[in-house]
Amino acid sequence: MTTGGKPLTTILDARGAASERPLFGLWNEELSEALQEFGLLRYRIRQLETALYRQKVAEIGEVTTWPRELREKVAAAGFRVGLPEIVETFRSGDGTERYLIAGNDGQTVETVWMPEGDGGEEGDSASNSDGGDAESKKNWSRATICVSSQIGCAVNCQFCLTAKLGIIRNLTAGEIAGQVAAVLKRQEAEPGRDRINLVFMGMGEPFLNYDAFMAAVRLLAGPMEIPESRMTVSTSGIVPGILRFAQEKVRPKLAISLNAPNDEVREGIMPVTRKWSIAEVMDAVRQVPLRQRERITFEYVLLGGVNDRLEHADEVVRLVRRAQIPAKVNLIAWNPGPGIPFTMPQAEDVARFQERLREQGVPAFVRRPRGRDIYAACGQLKKTGSQG
Ligand code: SAH
Ligand code: SF4
Repeated sequence: MTTGGKPLTTILDARGAASERPLFGLWNEELSEALQEFGLLRYRIRQLETALYRQKVAEIGEVTTWPRELREKVAAAGFRVGLPEIVETFRSGDGTERYLIAGNDGQTVETVWMPEGDGGEEGDSASNSDGGDAESKKNWSRATICVSSQIGCAVNCQFCLTAKLGIIRNLTAGEIAGQVAAVLKRQEAEPGRDRINLVFMGMGEPFLNYDAFMAAVRLLAGPMEIPESRMTVSTSGIVPGILRFAQEKVRPKLAISLNAPNDEVREGIMPVTRKWSIAEVMDAVRQVPLRQRERITFEYVLLGGVNDRLEHADEVVRLVRRAQIPAKVNLIAWNPGPGIPFTMPQAEDVARFQERLREQGVPAFVRRPRGRDIYAACGQLKKTGSQG
């Protein structure tokens, strides 16, 4: 089976070692170490970093700042760039694009591009534009990329399509950051010039793939030059992950998928609550030292008749007040998926819920669904259309 003409299987050499060694994902000492046998000076490594992370070259042959013999020697030793490749694109009427991107073993993950996007990263509907014509490349002034951290997910939230896959595997740091590189390249977007936001809200639970996820963040904030203040990570409430996150010097903003006003309702829709209660999650979140004006986002998926009543809104207000955390609430109307037994909330219930939070002083925003028609909206990511 092939994808875009490239063999999906990694070729093994005579010693049984992988003969294709991806460089994308490595930088600094990691890169020097991987290429040790060539005795490269520091400036050669820097040239390679620029080629990998700024120019986003597809092949070592394209690293034109290197002499040709060096490129050939490195390629002959089995190294390759390994920039993840977009193998399929779905385009929505609202300008959103959903991609299947092949990882190192050819398995695909999903990544979403939202021009002018409200990926919930600002918590407001700063843009009223509908994204316009996705055909013309620069029809956006800012954009949000929704990034996956695992193939599938182990957390098993009852309302989420990704949960149906179970956990297939973790992504590597290169595969996580590589989704961003592949999409930036396709869109001809440059973080230094264009306003690019990242939300780690695609497939998977980032805090159950913590090391690779954080290594990807450092790569993105480092040589890929996306400020960490423009990144948001969402977790279902993995307490040990939140506690580690609290210690990080370079870190995205934090969003917690609350989704319920109390443990009882939450257990019914998010079994992970049995492991860590809302109170335990709140205690962990309180350990995260916030930057100036930073707030924690609580995401709240509204499920018709389940958690969308006014008394639930009142409970959420009490919960947020008691937690004493600078917070805002992002309301997300549930996006339906095949075989998932919930109903969408009524539009007027969403509006009343938001109003109820706001009138009691809790900032609340309704996240505009993006790309519902192409299964790109929250919780709709399940490799739809993939060759598997
Ligand atoms: N696993 C992480 C991040 C990915 S899910 C987490 O759960 O936080 C990103 C957001 O989409 C979460 O807030 C989740 O609650 C929400 N979500 C999941 N399924 C959804 C659906 N069908 N409709 C709307 N939002 C959904
Ligand atoms: Fe996993 Fe997030 Fe979906 Fe829950 S909502 S199953 S944590 S991807």
